[in-house]
Amino acid sequence: ALTIGIVGLPNVGKSTLFNALTRATVLAANYPFATIDPNVGVVPLPDPRLDRLAEMFGSARVVPATVSFVDIAGIVRGASEGEGLGNQFLASIREADAICLVTRAFADPDVVHVDGQVNPASDIETIATELVLADIQTLEKALPRLEKEVRGKKTEAVVLETAKAALEVLGEGSLLSAGAEAAGLDRDVLRSFQLMTTKPFIYVFNMDDEGMSDQARQAELRGLVAPAEAVFLDAQFEAELVELEPQEAAELLRESGQEESGLDKLARVGFDTLGLQTYLTAGEKESRAWTIPKGATAPQAAGVIHTDFERGFIKAEVVSYDELVEYGSVAEARAHGRVRMEGKDYVMADGDVVEFRFNV
Ligand code: GDP
Repeated sequence: ALTIGIVGLPNVGKSTLFNALTRATVLAANYPFATIDPNVGVVPLPDPRLDRLAEMFGSARVVPATVSFVDIAGIVRGASEGEGLGNQFLASIREADAICLVTRAFADPDVVHVDGQVNPASDIETIATELVLADIQTLEKALPRLEKEVRGKKTEAVVLETAKAALEVLGEGSLLSAGAEAAGLDRDVLRSFQLMTTKPFIYVFNMDDEGMSDQARQAELRGLVAPAEAVFLDAQFEAELVELEPQEAAELLRESGQEESGLDKLARVGFDTLGLQTYLTAGEKESRAWTIPKGATAPQAAGVIHTDFERGFIKAEVVSYDELVEYGSVAEARAHGRVRMEGKDYVMADGDVVEFRFNV
């Protein structure tokens, strides 16, 4: 499964957030194949549609999609030079598919800030600089080899050109996730270099009470990281929420004026940032969300349930969740011509409720 690596300076609330994520981890009963790894938090992707489907179909259980977060040991200034945890840290980041950068935006004189003051912009800068420097090192190390391979016609010239252009973007202090597109760099070639700043970023601002209701401050922080996604949460509050019974938690959340918990928000944004989407199945046994890459076709979607389904794919019976709810049942939706027969070229849409037909 794709994973999101949680990084940030020391003392910003990463452990607090990660512990909350671990506490929210899905029950293994529904995910018998999930490995239990203390460094990975596997949280459900919130999806109220599943409860509605379960009601409609009398499903015995609901199985949401999941999002996996990995705790990556703290970054410090100088990480790219291999100081302290540096190398191990960089290796762990390379394995993650997206990076969740946690920044401290809460004021608390009792919690020491490594740089002496709470300044999200400068924290982000510090971490970005380390990652940019590490990518520069990787590319500079690869250049002589690439030059030789291109001369010997073992590698296409575009690879070398892309490496050089990427170095230029990095030289300006930009993350490749932000600057590569503007520079017109080849995505696939870039990916082959296994760099860190090509990964999509999510910025989590760990706020205090005051910050959670300060729209102006949030807009300012959002502007700092746009077009990347910003998630505002209070890690300590989230840690308290996950300890409560669902009903109590919902009440506390309402009292705090938030529509959704920070963990739910983070799960949604994380899932989306990984380039994933879901489709739904529903029956007596379960109502379930299945994870597919955005743009997946119907046979690829079927393959997520079982590889045989992809190989033997005949067609998909698809009704959109909204229309299913509007008509109240598959039979009614069908009677109104809302259940579509889709073939192997169909590109799945979010909210498709599907039944696959296949040969085995
Ligand atoms: P890490 O080093 O980034 O993993 O940070 P920790 O999660 O260990 O948090 C560092 C300190 O900040 C701990 O004493 C936490 O209790 C505290 N802390 C974490 N989140 C918050 C928060 O949202 N508000 C306040 N006031 N303190 C927090």
